[in-house]
Amino acid sequence: MAQIIDGKAVSKLIRQELKQEAERMAAQGTRPGLAVIIVGEDPASQVYVRNKQKGCEECGFYSEMHSLPDNTPEAELLELIEQLNTKPEIHGILVQLPLPKHIDEGRVIEAIAPEKDVDAFSPVNVGRVVVGDYILAPCTPAGVVELIDRSGMDIKGRHCVIIGRSNIVGKPLALLMLHRHATVTICHSRTQNLADITRQADILVAAVGKPRFVTADMIKPGATVIDVGVNRLPDGTLCGDVDYDAAEKVAGLITPVPGGVGPMTIAMLMKNTLAAARAARN
Ligand code: NAP
Repeated sequence: MAQIIDGKAVSKLIRQELKQEAERMAAQGTRPGLAVIIVGEDPASQVYVRNKQKGCEECGFYSEMHSLPDNTPEAELLELIEQLNTKPEIHGILVQLPLPKHIDEGRVIEAIAPEKDVDAFSPVNVGRVVVGDYILAPCTPAGVVELIDRSGMDIKGRHCVIIGRSNIVGKPLALLMLHRHATVTICHSRTQNLADITRQADILVAAVGKPRFVTADMIKPGATVIDVGVNRLPDGTLCGDVDYDAAEKVAGLITPVPGGVGPMTIAMLMKNTLAAARAARN
């Protein structure tokens, strides 16, 4: 039976560490500050934003919440970002996605000052991750690396197979793993003989968005299996991209859903905000 990687417990520990560090920084005159902007009433986005604010409170950060109506003109949103770009109390700016259709997401992300872009989605920060010279790493992929690190597994030299090549998970994770000296294979919907490739993985990451897509026969015995997927089943329950019950009999280490990668994303957002505050101070 696989050992479970408890993302909830790890994320709690990280938030405690960040709180201590934030207190030290506040005593020296810099309290990390995050501004979260939400446009519209999307219920899922509202939950994400509330959780991010809660994360700030838990870590002792300063936080600002900007709730704008659905019909906010793009120019108004850009103006708010510009104000926050120059506001000294704010070290991180997060615009909750998706945005209403009349707003150009790319333009909005690019408007955030790169040193405050704590989601690390802007082209400047993506480029920094590519060359391996970065302070801010995209939150979900960074959470995956942190979970593996804290499980005690050495990434160096391992074969990491990632299923999924999105700009927010698969692609940046491949780069982060490469910087940690893993041998990386990225798979996607056109990959042939997928199971032959996944069975070679020491670390198998599923970021597909399909419930129980990774079956036990796709996993090398003893492999570390990281499930990024969050899928809602017709009965309302959440399930990952991995067939967990079968996979845990084959894997060496495995993340559950919920309680695996999910809680790490917010912890990494807080970590980025603190890193941005530290960089602004220096
Ligand atoms: P996405 O943009 O839809 O990307 C899915 C990827 O899976 C694509 O690269 C796609 O290939 C690949 N794929 C689809 N069907 C496949 C198949 N049959 N065989 C192999 N590859 C296949 O999704 P995402 O945004 O990366 O998210 C992935 C999952 O992670 C979702 O469940 C999402 O909810 C979850 N997620 C969780 C967190 C968190 O905080 N825990 C954060 C972000 C995302 P193509 O490129 O060829 O289409």
